[in-house]
Amino acid sequence: MASLMLTVSTSPLIHPSIRNNAFMPRRCIDQIHLHTTPSIRGCTLSVRSSSSPDTGFTRIDGNKEAKSIRDEIKIEVSRMDASIHVVPGLAVILVGDRQDSASYVSKKKKACESAGIKSVDVCLPEDSSEEDVLKYILSFNEDPSIHGILVQLPLPSHLNEHNILKAINPKKDVDGFHPQNMGLLAMRGREPDFVPCTPKGCIELLHRYNVEVEGKRAVVIGRSNIVGMPVAHLLQNEDATVTTIHSKTKNPEEIAREADILIAAAGQPNMVRGSWIKPGAVVIDVGINHIEDPSAPRGRRLVGDVCYQEACKVASAITPVPGGVGPMTIAMLLSNTLTSAKRIHEFE
Ligand code: NAP
Repeated sequence: MASLMLTVSTSPLIHPSIRNNAFMPRRCIDQIHLHTTPSIRGCTLSVRSSSSPDTGFTRIDGNKEAKSIRDEIKIEVSRMDASIHVVPGLAVILVGDRQDSASYVSKKKKACESAGIKSVDVCLPEDSSEEDVLKYILSFNEDPSIHGILVQLPLPSHLNEHNILKAINPKKDVDGFHPQNMGLLAMRGREPDFVPCTPKGCIELLHRYNVEVEGKRAVVIGRSNIVGMPVAHLLQNEDATVTTIHSKTKNPEEIAREADILIAAAGQPNMVRGSWIKPGAVVIDVGINHIEDPSAPRGRRLVGDVCYQEACKVASAITPVPGGVGPMTIAMLLSNTLTSAKRIHEFE
């Protein structure tokens, strides 16, 4: 029998302000200089920000963009509460005790709290049955104070991910993983209720840095349901010509080098070297990989799928890891939750 830890939190609301949930594209460019650090897998890993207008290189600052989005959401949440006395609510279901999953859930909870979104977390033990999980999903489907439901992935292997994600009401599917929303994303002329948060964050960064997508050659490394596949659809929907690289692709380096926009989501540390990148390309690094590094304070270091030091000598712009796509994922989750609450309550 599953035991349950359930926490509910809200934060006080701030001044109302009238603003729609659309984010205007804008330019904000940081320049970077490299400094030398110990090399891991042949790739030097760390960078520091500074302004150097003559490098012509843009560091795409996910932290900064995500903060500005969260600030806009906070204002909208406040306006909604002041106008119709409704606060968006997000339910997160975590099964098992994976440390990385618990850490994501805790970050999501903090982000909700600071945006004024109600957050309800259900933590179930590793040996929970499918029925245990479904019970909570079905109850959140019916709960009028909950506008978004998220099941933290991956689930323990004995649970059927498809059955569980399918049980979420597609109108509350703020992760965008319900087959109905995935299917609509893949169809021409149709729109899903929600777009998965990480792919949406990648596209939002391209928009915010005024990267032209239409007619460009885009290459996505990875074809997972949560990142590679949806981001490829989003790029295609914006009229890019898209190629996907996966683990069986014969000549990935050659294909990647054709990309004007390269999105790396393979989960392979430093796989994309400078030689994989077309000069002037825009590179979005989704990878989050922990690698051993005796010189790092904890003996471990976080790196992306792209060798940053090599890439920034060739690319025109790149997201760092950390501080690139990661913070955007959480900002997009809050955005989807707000959109859901507005839609359900017909609040403009
Ligand atoms: P995943 O489910 O493991 O999928 C990895 C994909 O990359 C698969 O399609 C796989 O191909 C492909 N791949 C693996 N090794 C490859 C190689 N050597 N060459 C070419 N393709 C290769 O991973 P995921 O969930 O999509 O996540 C990808 C990365 O993004 C991970 O590092 C993850 O931690 C990170 N991530 C970050 C965020 C964020 O917020 N920043 C969110 C989600 C995930 P096959 O299909 O052929 O197996």
